[in-house]
Amino acid sequence: MDKPTIPKGGAASRLDANYREAAWSRLGEDEFDLVVIGAGVVGAGAALDAATRGLSVALVEARDFASGTSSRSSKLFHGGLRYLEQLEFGLVREALRERELMTTRLAPHLVKPVPFLYPLTHRLWERPYVAAGLALYDTMGGQSSLPGQKHLSRRAALRVFPGMRDDALVGAVRYFDAQADDARHTLTVARTAARYGAVVRASTRVTGFVRESDRVVGVTVRDAEDGRTQTVSAGVVLNCTGVWTDELQALSGARGRFRVRASKGVHIVVPRDRITGDAGLILRTDHSVLFVIPWKNHWLIGTTDTDWNLDLAHPAATRNDIDYLLEHVNTVLVAPLTYDDIEGVYAGLRPLLAGESEETSALSREHAVARVVPGLISIAGGKYTTYRVMAADAVDAAIDDLPRRVAPSCTDKVPLLGGDGYYAMRNQLLALATEYGLHPHRISHVLDRYGSMIRDVLDPGLVEPALLETVPSAPDYLMAEIRYAVTHEGALHLEDVLTRRTRISIEYPHRGVACAGVIASMMGDILGWDSATLDTEVGSYVARVDAERDSQSHYDDEAADKVRTAAPEVRTYLSA
Ligand SMILES: Cc1cc2nc3c(=O)[nH]c(=O)nc-3n(C[C@H](O)[C@H](O)[C@H](O)COP(=O)(O)OP(=O)(O)OC[C@H]3O[C@@H](n4cnc5c(N)ncnc54)[C@H](O)[C@@H]3O)c2cc1C
Repeated sequence: MDKPTIPKGGAASRLDANYREAAWSRLGEDEFDLVVIGAGVVGAGAALDAATRGLSVALVEARDFASGTSSRSSKLFHGGLRYLEQLEFGLVREALRERELMTTRLAPHLVKPVPFLYPLTHRLWERPYVAAGLALYDTMGGQSSLPGQKHLSRRAALRVFPGMRDDALVGAVRYFDAQADDARHTLTVARTAARYGAVVRASTRVTGFVRESDRVVGVTVRDAEDGRTQTVSAGVVLNCTGVWTDELQALSGARGRFRVRASKGVHIVVPRDRITGDAGLILRTDHSVLFVIPWKNHWLIGTTDTDWNLDLAHPAATRNDIDYLLEHVNTVLVAPLTYDDIEGVYAGLRPLLAGESEETSALSREHAVARVVPGLISIAGGKYTTYRVMAADAVDAAIDDLPRRVAPSCTDKVPLLGGDGYYAMRNQLLALATEYGLHPHRISHVLDRYGSMIRDVLDPGLVEPALLETVPSAPDYLMAEIRYAVTHEGALHLEDVLTRRTRISIEYPHRGVACAGVIASMMGDILGWDSATLDTEVGSYVARVDAERDSQSHYDDEAADKVRTAAPEVRTYLSA
């Protein structure tokens, strides 16, 4: 049999089993200009940035694309009203520019405007204060396609949000931000990097650094699926591992220029019909803000902000975290939520900069880039919204270590996969609905997940109509999407599909258990699983859900962590 190779051009973004094998060979054979560690949004963004500047790039991820913080955020592309209040104008301006670029040019299929109400609770002074802030917010990012602020009386605000108690506000201001499915967006950035020639591989963990005298010249990697190891040569290595930054810096034997501390943020997901409202809410809490965000047929409510020093891969939400969210949101709701309303819960870790000096700790909401040793650059901090800018900064720093001139970043002109042609296909929505025999709402949903790649997802359903049926017990998704997750999106395990390619694990009260068998069976047909593998996949997913539920009944982090980490890892060769 011919050795698998990575095709040139668009087909390279098809992350199937052949691609995976070919990528392994390339990792061992090529001399890369840049090796990027970690396929969260920052690493995926850096790989795309570098590939589109003409560099040869490898992107390696220990687990799944976006399996760290980048699938566990509030999912907002926003300037951050809170940062405006903290006078972080540079950060807010940059983030607002990125929001505009994403919603209009780079990822209009994935990043969508969302209206928010800012409820006013004080008469007289608060409205002009908020109006001045929002006037800045509406303009400081330059031209904006989102509607500007609109002032509402109490009665008008309650018409927009009837689920809010009338004694919880004296009026409101409506403003706009944007949102995306973070895991899907990060995956799309990684696939776009592959489209431009980056060698992209999940389940590939960096276990060490290769040195030549004082310089890092490569990494050793281990395949988390089968335990194979090899060395990857690099002109420069970029550490984009978020809350794992210190771990990687320590592995390099060097003392990093900054440290990263993890802060846990928890969200709960409740059905859309439990709260009547046509906009999101931003609510002040004692220390921060609480968002109530419309999310498809659901609301996301978050978040908490507490130090976390336990397992980084599986941060556990506690009953305390959930009670905090319920207690705060219930202060403004006509029909208070209870624990039984919760469909899903997720916890993520903010990678916050914790410098050893005043200078770096002052940067805690910004990002930092540092040369750890020659040939190794670390980047961390920042926020999801500004990933493209972070990626460009990291690659700028990396090319200082390369012996040739490299073009400036051009990712502000490179639409993500599915973005090109998206508007045209939106206009063809009714024709697409007829062609595939699906309801226009369904086509709209699929378009907003895959953009102009929609035909790659749905065409197999013209040959095998069962693929155009919905997933049993998870009718927001089609079976064709499950197939596509394996054939094009690099899903290797049941949990990859249930938690990140789809969001079934947080969108349905059964958390994916009710459809685990059907989905595993379709995945197994494509990936060649025998019945023992199939049982292991389903068993470990169910154990993961049980452990998460159990951890959410404990009140303190230590107890929750103990229960959560007892669940088995489906990637067998993760430890060194
Ligand atoms: C609760 C919460 C809400 C948030 N909400 C927002 C928001 O609404 N808007 C916003 O702009 N920002 C938000 N953020 C911030 C944003 O999510 C993060 O800044 C961003 O996702 C960090 O991305 P990253 O790529 O740096 O890290 P990660 O996504 O964690 O990626 C790091 C990757 O490195 C991999 N890795 C680790 N070790 C290795 C190794 N040895 N070999 C290979 N790979 C390795 C990990 O598996 C992981 O996938 C939020 C954060 C949290 C926690």
